[in-house]
Amino acid sequence: MDQHFDTIIKSGRVIDPATGFDGIADVAIIGGQIAAVEPNLPAEAAGQVIDASGKLVIAGMIDTHAHIYQHVTGRFGLNADMVGVQSGVTTVLDQGGPSCMTLAGFRKFVAEPANTRVLCFLSAYLVGGLEGHLYPELYGPGQINVAATVKAARDNPDMVRGIKAHAEIGGASRWGLEVIKLGKQIASEAGLPLYIHLGQLWPTKDSASIDPDEVVRAMVPLMEKGDVLAHPFTRHPGGFISAETGEVHPVVWAALERGVTVDVGHGSHFSFDMARRTISAGIRPTTLGADMHGYNVRIPENEDDKRRNPFFGVAPFNLTNAMTKLLALGLPLDEVIATVTSRPAKMLGLADQIGALKPGLQADVSVLDMLEGQFELRDNSGETVTAPLMLAPLFALKAGRRFEADSPLVPAPVRLAA
Ligand SMILES: [Zn+2]
Repeated sequence: MDQHFDTIIKSGRVIDPATGFDGIADVAIIGGQIAAVEPNLPAEAAGQVIDASGKLVIAGMIDTHAHIYQHVTGRFGLNADMVGVQSGVTTVLDQGGPSCMTLAGFRKFVAEPANTRVLCFLSAYLVGGLEGHLYPELYGPGQINVAATVKAARDNPDMVRGIKAHAEIGGASRWGLEVIKLGKQIASEAGLPLYIHLGQLWPTKDSASIDPDEVVRAMVPLMEKGDVLAHPFTRHPGGFISAETGEVHPVVWAALERGVTVDVGHGSHFSFDMARRTISAGIRPTTLGADMHGYNVRIPENEDDKRRNPFFGVAPFNLTNAMTKLLALGLPLDEVIATVTSRPAKMLGLADQIGALKPGLQADVSVLDMLEGQFELRDNSGETVTAPLMLAPLFALKAGRRFEADSPLVPAPVRLAA
């Protein structure tokens, strides 16, 4: 064989849900693209050989729910590469940080300098994620401009892959359904999916009485094929499980039948209990966003921090920690991998470029450790689950270029004594 490769990632366990491949193989890269996925490629044919024996080799992970509009979204926005390539993640999707007014800055100051592939779901609101959504009065129907937002999406198709809005009880207590209808109108006119935050974001308006179940029953029917319901496992009211019946809302089943998809959006409100109830009812998440942001990925250091931090008490997490939780909940490994590779690539309309290990696609590859033992996983309802397998990022290649997973945001695995 006289073929020459730039890089061969050698002898890892390759799992690629897009092709159905699961086995020991080498991944060869030429010119920033996948060139071959086969066992026993000749090492002497490569400029660089990376030994991945004993490791898991998958398509570059895609985090469908990130908050990385650093410096513009206050303490909320994290550094793109810390969430991205430094966490073993090659593509990050900012959910609603940039808006039609701030998208140009997002491109210039976040996406362009990042080593990570950065995309976004554009905020339906004029202000986007300014100051971490701290001011609910900026998120009413009067603070939405449909035409300007549709135009920004259409003018930036390489960057804007969807629209982000919230169907949550704090906003609903102020404005009812109007905001979400405008969000849906923007998505429809732009020809993009709508990503909906379920549960709670803002406090409910003083003295307003609001029925979270009623919000879900009214909002979810607006969702169409390709739209995304996020935070199904939230411990907040207004998720997939009805407070009245303790069961999955019938409107959710109907939405899934229409082709609406489900993104975990782990965040600080992920609940094992809600996840177990939803999964045992027969609902599987389509994709898995980590939803890390500056309020939920670090423990506040002092009383002032605690007071200002609405998510105080969080258990450290990241994308691979969230994957480990899905494994602990009984989902098979290949399906968990699909939630961060092939399926988000499809959600982004980029399955012909990323999300799989097929020759000709971008050489985005994540290499993970599969640690065995007894690991502690926690949620913020106070539940602790013991997992026999922990996934942890080692390094990633983005378009063939290697980055170590050395982000301070990667939590150390909590190993229990045998
Ligand atoms: Zn979020």
